[in-house]
Amino acid sequence: MRKVGIAGVPNQEFIDHYKDAGYEFIDLDMPITGIDYFDVIEKIAPKIYCATLKTVFVNALVIKPDIILADVGEGKCDGMRFIAEALRELLPDSEIITTRNMNSKPQGNPISVSDLPLKEKMNRIVNSVIMEVDKNLKPCKPTAGFWGVPPRDFAILDIFPNTTHIYGWARCMENKAPDNMEIEMFVDEGIPIVFFAQSFCQKTMLAKYLANKYNGLFVDVDAQLDDSTKAKVIAFLTLRGAIK
Ligand code: SF4
Repeated sequence: MRKVGIAGVPNQEFIDHYKDAGYEFIDLDMPITGIDYFDVIEKIAPKIYCATLKTVFVNALVIKPDIILADVGEGKCDGMRFIAEALRELLPDSEIITTRNMNSKPQGNPISVSDLPLKEKMNRIVNSVIMEVDKNLKPCKPTAGFWGVPPRDFAILDIFPNTTHIYGWARCMENKAPDNMEIEMFVDEGIPIVFFAQSFCQKTMLAKYLANKYNGLFVDVDAQLDDSTKAKVIAFLTLRGAIK
């Protein structure tokens, strides 16, 4: 079966087109078992660089999808533009298609406000880019918040209670509105919120700014969650009464 690799949230018309044509979809943003290492790009990408972009790069070079559909607009980040250009040269047999998903019209976020475990919520949001997921869920009142992009290492999500709402760009992603700053900036006030960004991402600034504004906790994580960040998040959520 022909494969299409997706980076970010490409425009829905592209997704629908390749779905109808029977392509197998691969989410290049997420680590894939067996190839979750960075050796392949050791000589061509800096060590100190966004782990999500490095993951896209490695997955694309190892899997060599027939088509790579990369969002390089506001929904993703400038970094993907450069990787797409490098992939054009490195994978001459793959067709590299770049898109700018400027959609800002919200389509709802029942997953973000549901009472599912946080990791399950994030999994469904990520999967919703390429498949239909169950969105018929029970909403809950938030007792904690996770703001940010889907992390490369989902381990951080296990720390939070099920009554955690998702905010930030992951909520934009669920809304299929990756270019909606209003959603990205929104949080419910008065609850403990962890403002997360991948290390070396431009969103670290916004995460830190909002953490200061809403008395939350700013954390940035590289490829994997380390013990000190884990301890910081546990202490913050415990002190603020979100977990025991
Ligand atoms: S985490 Fe930041 S730098 Fe990395 S791909 Fe996402 S927007 Fe770009």
